[in-house]
Amino acid sequence: MKVYIMTDLEGICGVNGCSDGTGNKIVNVESSCRLLTEEVNAVVEGLVDGGAKEIIVIDGHGGSNSILIENLHPKARLGIIGGGLAPVTYFLDSSFAACLQIGAHAMEGVATGFLNHTFDSHAVANMWLNDMPVGEIAIGSLCAAYFNVPTILVSGDKAACQEAVDFLGRIETVVTKAASSRYAVVNRNPAEVCQELRKSSERAFLNRDKYPVKKIAPPCRLKIQLMCPNQADEYEKRGAKRVDHQTVILQSDDFIDLLAQRVGWAPGIHNQRFAISGN
Ligand SMILES: [Zn+2]
Repeated sequence: MKVYIMTDLEGICGVNGCSDGTGNKIVNVESSCRLLTEEVNAVVEGLVDGGAKEIIVIDGHGGSNSILIENLHPKARLGIIGGGLAPVTYFLDSSFAACLQIGAHAMEGVATGFLNHTFDSHAVANMWLNDMPVGEIAIGSLCAAYFNVPTILVSGDKAACQEAVDFLGRIETVVTKAASSRYAVVNRNPAEVCQELRKSSERAFLNRDKYPVKKIAPPCRLKIQLMCPNQADEYEKRGAKRVDHQTVILQSDDFIDLLAQRVGWAPGIHNQRFAISGN
């Protein structure tokens, strides 16, 4: 039984951040990478105890350079992402029994979401999928659902966990910290968080068939409000429909194709290139 673990850095207990003008900047990078790797290892332990045989961990933050492979649990393999594929879909297919999101953060604009943003804190002001506000948690779980893989656990700050519950309904969550603003946060104790992650991952994996596989019905429509009009210009040049000076709409009958369009692929090309099709 294979398990797919998506990771991000902002929602890890003890990760500290501030603003670099318009976006987010993690300030304690070295300890953040260590804390992330420890949380991932706790999850891997729980999954192995629950019967998982093959675990792939995706280093999903920024340049895919955050997980310390030399400290990674021996039962896990590390996926590095890059090259402009549709985000989050790397190595995913229907052979996985479950998906987890570790270190998640809330979507851009959530007042109590620590380091809240949606993919690019210098570019995306708001994102709606078929008129529903979405962030990375919803998009990640929809990517897994595209391949009929249930998302069974989301960990991150309190606002991220709430976002997961709001979108998915039944989902195991582990809160790592609670923010009062984008940059002010009270962290739990990291050892306590790891202990809970281990237990919750095992429990979630044992109950993996009880979690919903929530998909999006086509036609899929992604509306993106950019931070600046010049960013919208770039989308318009690639064929996006311009709604106003800083908002564009991408459309597709296929959800992964839609995400690929967001990162520059012409409609229909990405899925053909990587032999991706939903079922
Ligand atoms: Zn992120």
